[in-house]
Amino acid sequence: MTRTAEAIVIGGGVMGTSILYNLAARGLKGVLLERDKLGSGGTGRSSGLIRMHYSTEVNCRLAWESFHVFKEWPERVGGQAPQFIKTGFMAIAGPDAADGLRHNVALQRSVGIETYEVPLKEARKLAPAFHFDEDEAFAWEPESGHGDPSGTAMAFAARARELGAKVVLESPALSIEVGGGRVSAVTTARERYETPIVIVAAGPWSPRLLAPLGIRIPITCTRHEVFFLRRNPDEVPSHPSGVDVKNLIYFRPEGADLTLVGNGNVEDEADPDGYNPKPTMSYLEDVWLRLAKRIPGIADAEFFTGYAGLYDSSPDEHPIVDAVEGIEGLYLCAGFSGHGFKESPAVGVCMAELVLDGASRFMDISPLRMSRFKSGTLNTITYKFRVIA
Ligand SMILES: Cc1cc2nc3c(=O)[nH]c(=O)nc-3n(C[C@H](O)[C@H](O)[C@H](O)COP(=O)(O)OP(=O)(O)OC[C@H]3O[C@@H](n4cnc5c(N)ncnc54)[C@H](O)[C@@H]3O)c2cc1C
Repeated sequence: MTRTAEAIVIGGGVMGTSILYNLAARGLKGVLLERDKLGSGGTGRSSGLIRMHYSTEVNCRLAWESFHVFKEWPERVGGQAPQFIKTGFMAIAGPDAADGLRHNVALQRSVGIETYEVPLKEARKLAPAFHFDEDEAFAWEPESGHGDPSGTAMAFAARARELGAKVVLESPALSIEVGGGRVSAVTTARERYETPIVIVAAGPWSPRLLAPLGIRIPITCTRHEVFFLRRNPDEVPSHPSGVDVKNLIYFRPEGADLTLVGNGNVEDEADPDGYNPKPTMSYLEDVWLRLAKRIPGIADAEFFTGYAGLYDSSPDEHPIVDAVEGIEGLYLCAGFSGHGFKESPAVGVCMAELVLDGASRFMDISPLRMSRFKSGTLNTITYKFRVIA
C-alpha cells in the first residue's frame, strides 16, 4: 500500500525518537519506522551515564544541553519524565593523562559546565571506597549521574505521538528511493511511504541502509560488554560514577548495592546482525580485576549479570549529524559510539533545525559534518580512551 508521510525517521533508538519528537514539537508530523521494538539497538543496552567530561567542545555542549533536558524534562519535553539519578561523576587520570584531564576541565568550564579539579584529599572524601595513587589527577562533576535509555526513547516517542507523529514497530525500512537528486520514498515489507524527507538514525545498521544509494559512511560496529556486580555493603556501601583512564574502565552505582562496569579500551569489530550478546568469562575476569584496582572492596563482590551491546563508531569517535550531500531531503544521524544516550535530547533539536531551517542554530554542529572524512579535518581527542572522545 502506498502512503504519504511528511518525513520518515528510520530507527527507534534514542536518536530516532528524539528527532521524531523535536520535529513534531515544531509542527512536522513524521513517521518513525523501527524494525523491532523501541530501544532494541544500542539504546536498550546502554549504561545510561550522563556526564560532561569530554575532550571536544561539540561533545561537551551536546552533553551539557541534554543534561538540562534530563533534569527539567516536564518543563522542556512534557509527559512522563524518564528517570535521572544523581550520583556525582569523577574522572581519574594517571600522570601521563593528567594534562588531558585538565584540558577537558578547562574546556568544560568555558562551556559553563559545573566541574572542577579536586585534590587527592577531597577525592578521598568524595569516594572513600576508592584506592588512589599520590600522582593521580581528579575531575569532579557534582550534578552528573545516570538515566534510563529505553525509558527515554519511550518518553520521546510518547510525546511525539501526542503531537501527531506516528511510530510503526516491527517494520524494517527495506530501501530508500531517490529520484532526480532527492529522496522520494521509503519501502517496508507492507508499505511504501512517499516522502520528501528521510532521516537515517539506525545506529550500527545505518551504513547498510545507505550503501545501495552508493553512499559509503565510515561507521564501524564493535561489541561492547558490561556487567553488574553485587557489592558487599560492609566493604563498599556506595560510590560515585566515574571513568578511570588509568585502568581503562567506567562504572556507576545501580540501585542500592549493584555496580555497573564497562571497558574503555578498543574492542573487536562485530556484525550487528550476528554478534554475541552474552557475557564472556575472559572479559569479566579482565575488567573485574581492573575495577578492583580502583575499588579494592569489590574484589569479592557477587557477579550479578552481564550482556553486550553495539557501539557504532566513526574514525574520530564522533558521530555524523548532517544532510547527505547530493541527495536532497536525506539526512544521517549515527556513529555515537559510547556517548549517544546522554547527547540525544540536544541532537534531536539540532537535527530538527537542520531539516526545517537548513542549519542548526541551537549550536554549532559543523564538527559532525560528513565531509570531514574526505577533507581530513577530523576531531582530535585527548585520551586514547574511547568513552571520553
Ligand atoms: C553497552 C553500551 C553502553 C553504553 N553506555 C552509554 C552511556 O553510559 N552513556 C551514553 O551516553 N551512551 C552510552 N552508550 C551509547 C548509546 O547507548 C548509543 O550511542 C545510543 O543509544 C545510540 O542510539 P541510536 O538511536 O543512534 O541507535 P540505536 O539505539 O542502535 O537505534 C537504532 C535503531 O534502528 C533500528 N533499525 C536498524 N535498521 C533498521 C531498519 N532497516 N528499519 C527500521 N529500523 C531499523 C534498530 O532496531 C534500532 O532500534 C552505550 C552503548 C552500549 C551498547
